[in-house]
Amino acid sequence: MKIKDILQEKRTVSCEFFPPREEDGIPAVFRAIDRVSAFNPDFISVTYGAGGSTRAFTERITTQVKQDTDLEVMAHLTCVAQTKDEVQGVLERLDDAGIENVIALRGDPPRGEAAFVPVEGGFHHATELIEHIRAHFGFGLAAACYPEGHTESPDLDWDIRYAREKVDRGADFLISQLFYDNRYFFDFLERAEQAGINVPIIPGVLPILNTAQIRRFTSLCGATIPAELDRQLEQYADDDNTVRELGIEYATNQVRELWDEGVPGVHFYVLNRSYSVSRILSNLNLPGHTVPD
Ligand SMILES: Cc1cc2nc3c(=O)[nH]c(=O)nc-3n(C[C@H](O)[C@H](O)[C@H](O)COP(=O)(O)OP(=O)(O)OC[C@H]3O[C@@H](n4cnc5c(N)ncnc54)[C@H](O)[C@@H]3O)c2cc1C
Repeated sequence: MKIKDILQEKRTVSCEFFPPREEDGIPAVFRAIDRVSAFNPDFISVTYGAGGSTRAFTERITTQVKQDTDLEVMAHLTCVAQTKDEVQGVLERLDDAGIENVIALRGDPPRGEAAFVPVEGGFHHATELIEHIRAHFGFGLAAACYPEGHTESPDLDWDIRYAREKVDRGADFLISQLFYDNRYFFDFLERAEQAGINVPIIPGVLPILNTAQIRRFTSLCGATIPAELDRQLEQYADDDNTVRELGIEYATNQVRELWDEGVPGVHFYVLNRSYSVSRILSNLNLPGHTVPD
């Protein structure tokens, strides 16, 4: 089923996983998917790596989930390091496998490279990929948005202009980059409305697992860690268990507030670590996403 149609019927809970580097890591991904399945997510998604074998694993996991489980699935696809013809090939395989949903992204540069450089004959921006998919396929389509602005956007007006462009070219809904201060998301919703963006905007939530990792992630994507949270992360920087508990409590409160404000869904960046998301969903007790005792 297309996620845009699910969103017409209900508020969604979704979970994002990533493909392993090596083939023998695939069963662990399925175990993580299996564990969160107990909470009846409305869809799951699998990220698309910067190159190499992980991309084939993304296709494989996405296809297998679609064909062997009751879960709805969304494939991530990026413009990194492939020509339009190669992207077309991926889309044809996804379509042949019965995948109905794609999130179209430009992608981050491969590790060690500072900036995104399109290959000759490749797409330059997510907007071009969205346009291509709309012209040739019937997939339900999502795109990314950035409550605090994308790091390459010179200002927030620029950023919202291209968010709008993604919708104009065919994105059915947007999923946000992670953030830790809900005010950024609510401000973004206001700016999006003013810019005429009228599709569902789903907040992306990453439960904090440890201090070093979250500092790295937020510095890469430009998300702000609120001062009090930052102080606690510093205090327990050497104690991952405490930070994980803190992350569970923080994300529970964050999602509760988002949900109470009426967001159309919530998208968890699971990072293949199902424990925190399972605890958060248990705490939240959202209708349709509880686990029987
Ligand atoms: C929900 C979500 C899922 C993600 N999944 C993945 C994944 O699976 N794999 C992965 O590698 N990365 C993933 N990312 C990260 C994403 O690829 C990066 O944030 C990337 O740097 C930008 O991708 P984009 O699709 O937003 O690009 P774009 O929309 O192309 O935006 C990149 C920059 O260019 C600007 N821009 C956009 N269009 C134009 C235009 N036509 N002309 C001029 N400037 C323009 C934007 O304002 C922005 O500053 C994900 C991000 C999110 C939020």
